[in-house]
Amino acid sequence: MAQLLRTPLLSPAVIQGASTGTLEVKGPLSFWGGGRANPLDTKHAEPVYEPATGRVLCELVPCGPEEVDQAVKSAHAAYLKWSKMSGMERAHVMLEAARLIRERKDEIAKVEVINNGKSIIEATGNVQGAAQCIEYFAGLAGTLAGQHIQLSGNAFAYTRREPLGVCLGIGAWNFPFTIAVMKSAPALACGNAMIYKPSPMTPLTTVMLAEIYTQAGVPEGLFNVVQGGAETGSLLCHHPMVAKVSFTGSVPTGKKVMEISAKGVKPVTLELGGKSPLIIFKDSELENAVKGALMGNFLTQGEVCCNGTRVFVQREIMPQFLEEVVKRAKTITVGDPMQIATRMGALISRPHLERVLGFISQAKKEGARVLCGGEPFVPNDPNLKGGYFMSPCVLDNCRDDMTCVKEEIFGPVMSVLPFDTEEEVIERANNTTFGLAAGVFTRDIARAHRVVENLQAGTCFINNYNKTSVELPFGGYKMSGIGSKECF
Ligand code: NAD
Repeated sequence: MAQLLRTPLLSPAVIQGASTGTLEVKGPLSFWGGGRANPLDTKHAEPVYEPATGRVLCELVPCGPEEVDQAVKSAHAAYLKWSKMSGMERAHVMLEAARLIRERKDEIAKVEVINNGKSIIEATGNVQGAAQCIEYFAGLAGTLAGQHIQLSGNAFAYTRREPLGVCLGIGAWNFPFTIAVMKSAPALACGNAMIYKPSPMTPLTTVMLAEIYTQAGVPEGLFNVVQGGAETGSLLCHHPMVAKVSFTGSVPTGKKVMEISAKGVKPVTLELGGKSPLIIFKDSELENAVKGALMGNFLTQGEVCCNGTRVFVQREIMPQFLEEVVKRAKTITVGDPMQIATRMGALISRPHLERVLGFISQAKKEGARVLCGGEPFVPNDPNLKGGYFMSPCVLDNCRDDMTCVKEEIFGPVMSVLPFDTEEEVIERANNTTFGLAAGVFTRDIARAHRVVENLQAGTCFINNYNKTSVELPFGGYKMSGIGSKECF
């Protein structure tokens, strides 16, 4: 049985002294029963890279069946205690966790930048949003109540809101801390325990979250981190004591997770990929529409599920739109994600960078024109020579049948498509297997709401893009998912 270590993964002093290219993380990365642990069998250890430098940051040892079982059992024991507490008692502990996150905001953001490659400005915003998410669900914990139903005679019946038990969260690498919080906050507020499996590429900040929940006072084992990849994820989904699965990731993996969950008749929430349309009518305020398109394509290096990567522009304003969007895309500062002035950091991995560049080569072969970017970017700083950077890319001359327009690229690549009429653009926007988000830019507010009503998308933005908040549900139509964030 693995030994539990109760020392923090990274001390505040180590994090404060760290910068791009300096942090080395040693020791166990999984967390259950209130402490960190590594599987006994370390022969399948894998390197985890720092995207901005390409250097090895730490080694990840994937959990096997024994560790999965140990973690699930520790979660179940904690669930038995936590579920007996009142909503207000749970809220009290959760609010303390949110306070600790705010107190350690800069440290968490720094580790997120080092592990994920996104800019410090974005990472800091993500951590603040995570604290807010816990506060929001803590606020709901005390409001959960059943119903009283009067029956004939003197009889009555009542319903109870009951927790499910041990819930499993599986996350993607693009918002590591945020996704772990978005899944755990509602689960914990309702009296459940959680096992969380982050992406093997971004294992670090989730461990910090587990430490924070423990410090805040959750029963030991209530929030556990089980590290590993596909095999570990599959073992977790199969475990008979896991009562529910909430998954964030790609459509192909989501299908597998749903299949396994079906075998155990487990409820499943799926937050999957997207290829969202962003529609710009000729009467829109051009500067705002350009800003929306940049935000909807280059946020987090384009690695955002709800990005509006099919940009439909009404033909009459196409030249002005392209001129302005290209001018602005060229000014985006790419480089050291730890610098406050940086707006675009490094992509998650070398293979992912190559995949994104491959989409651009394919787009050129299919007739698209590169108006800017789309090249590997090598910063001047010698420290960053091995980093996975590229310049933000705008593609013109696109058609609906091109690969770059049909498939989720998950990188900083905007495909621009002309349209003529409202009816036509709605039909083309909906002509996809995805349905995560959509955006409409127009000064005609009646048209904006009419178009939104006809778009098959979980979230629709009007005259802005990627503006999200914890109070709002978040989920997808069609293959973009099942359920929404608010029911984790
Ligand atoms: P992915 O599907 O490759 O992996 C997601 C997670 O699933 C990882 O933790 C991975 O280890 C795990 N996994 C892989 N195979 C598994 C299996 N057989 N059983 C159980 N778990 C398994 O996705 P990714 O590359 O990490 O993330 C990118 C994708 O995530 C994109 O498609 C993006 O759109 C999507 N995403 C969606 C949302 C949303 O809210 N809709 C948010 C973020 C990312």
